Amino acid sequence: MYGIGVLKGMAVTIQRMVMPPATIEFPEVTRPMSPRARTNLLWFDERCTGCSTCAQACPDGCILVHTAPNPDGTLEKVRYEIDFRICMYCGLCVEACPYQAIQCGGTMEDAVYEFDTMYKDKHALTRLAHEFLGRNGYEYPHGQRAPDHIIELIEVEAKQHPAPVSKGERVIEARTRG
Ligand code: SF4
Ligand code: SF4
Repeated sequence: MYGIGVLKGMAVTIQRMVMPPATIEFPEVTRPMSPRARTNLLWFDERCTGCSTCAQACPDGCILVHTAPNPDGTLEKVRYEIDFRICMYCGLCVEACPYQAIQCGGTMEDAVYEFDTMYKDKHALTRLAHEFLGRNGYEYPHGQRAPDHIIELIEVEAKQHPAPVSKGERVIEARTRG
């Protein structure tokens, strides 16, 4: 019948007008990420021995590990840095780490105004790791609980420097298209 297509089109338009928007205001708002997603890497200083296996496994050369020997035979991690500007999130470093000191699970906050802020030294990485543990019930992404001394440290840090709500924390429920 003549005009039926127009009516169908109008019905779809009206339906869309009353539906909630499918888009979000990224990066201020983010959607929940699948726990298995290859998101930004998290590095946990307390698990890391400084063995450099992750750096050797990285095809892009994103990871810098510089160590010095301690008198007790362990390695002092003088520098541990990840260059997220060139990381391709392949996860090879995660697979290679024998101690699960580097894991996927961080927030995807790569919409930055200054590119160089994606270069993270060990202090920045530790801040991200502690933020993650604080938000995640003190569990690592792979589900193991953080040791007590790290939990105490994070609680002390939280009292001293209450963290502003970061854009990655303002997570909204994923809206599905109707
Ligand atoms: S995810 Fe891949 S590219 Fe990124 S640091 Fe790890 S090994 Fe390198
Ligand atoms: S492989 Fe794991 S334990 Fe070794 S330096 Fe890398 S993050 Fe640390």
